[in-house]
Amino acid sequence: MDLSYILNHLGEDRETYHGAVSPPVYQTSNFAFPNVAAMRNALPHEQEVPFYTRGLNPTTGILCQKLAALEGTDDALVFGSGIAAVSAAVISQLKAGDHVVCVQKPYGWAEKLFNQLLGRFGVTVTYVPAPDTDGIEAAIQPNTRMLYLESPNSITFELVDLEAACAIAKPRGIVTVIDNSYATPLGQQPAKWGVDIVVHSASKYFGGHSDVVAGVVCSSKAIIKQIFDHEFMNLGGIVSPHTSSLLLRSLRTLPIRFERSTKSALQVAEYLHNHPKVKQLIYPGHPSHPQYALAQKQMGDCGGLFSILLDVQDVAEVERFADRLQRFLMAVSWGGHESLALPVCALAESTARLRPDLPWNLVRIYIGLEDPEVLIADLEQALQGLK
Ligand SMILES: *Cc1c(COP(=O)(O)O)cnc(C)c1O
Repeated sequence: MDLSYILNHLGEDRETYHGAVSPPVYQTSNFAFPNVAAMRNALPHEQEVPFYTRGLNPTTGILCQKLAALEGTDDALVFGSGIAAVSAAVISQLKAGDHVVCVQKPYGWAEKLFNQLLGRFGVTVTYVPAPDTDGIEAAIQPNTRMLYLESPNSITFELVDLEAACAIAKPRGIVTVIDNSYATPLGQQPAKWGVDIVVHSASKYFGGHSDVVAGVVCSSKAIIKQIFDHEFMNLGGIVSPHTSSLLLRSLRTLPIRFERSTKSALQVAEYLHNHPKVKQLIYPGHPSHPQYALAQKQMGDCGGLFSILLDVQDVAEVERFADRLQRFLMAVSWGGHESLALPVCALAESTARLRPDLPWNLVRIYIGLEDPEVLIADLEQALQGLK
């Protein structure tokens, strides 16, 4: 199925809504039936037949079809946030006593899910550096049930060799889950390499305008049905029909937004790579990345998110740099129209107690849709005269 068909036509049954080009927002909680038999027949098919909006809402249903097709999986479910999608996918595959092998430095709330929430239910976890395929294999225990991946992670951008990781997991019956928010399906389709469950924060590139929070799980028919029947309906972390409508609108322009963001990011990254005040650029899309060859193999375009390590003497200089930026908003998240800067020193309790897990001189940069020359000029004035 071609990308243009998926984004412009798939799932849209325009005849049923007066030829409207943009699907209506079915702003309803409830769906009524003409008689007892019709209601009785619909009830066992809540995933396919609109019955109650916590199950299937038709606006959200269109979105699910498009997202599954984008990832190249059978089916998808949309949630009220990325972490709701992560949590539902993970919980659906685990029980008390199970063990998880997880890449180091996953998204913070995913780490908390494993360490704290699932810890209370007797699930244990081992963290392994993402590039260390042998380490992943060595961490497997008799009770390992899941391999949880982010490739790359969204702050230091280490990659997992997806083909090799799946080759370790598959024969042992270990389920593989990946958070693919960084690359989007335009940059990477993990199901192609054998990953079982692909999750996304739709708050990033899918939403694309920093105005929605939502999440996605893509997988086989059987796994999606299992998640629908339990975690989706039971935990109830659904998205509103209005948010689904915003996401449908955003998906129409995903390819041009992602392409522009990638192209500008390459230009800005090249500038930063050559700057004397930048000690290191960390961007899988740049030849200086230690896993560039792997990135070229399993990812295409890498989008607009990367990090730099500043060549400065102390945290005060990092703060000076970040505070001087005019065209980058200081904020978390990414994938929107606006460029962002996130110094990790802003995530620490204080400058006296910096985070031990991340370099103090790291600034994460997201390149949005602005003119890259304007962004480079802004970085230039902020880098000038740093000690
Ligand atoms: C933002 C993000 C999430 C969480 O998504 P929300 O929509 O904020 O809940 C999960 N994983 C990654 C990699 C993210 O960047």
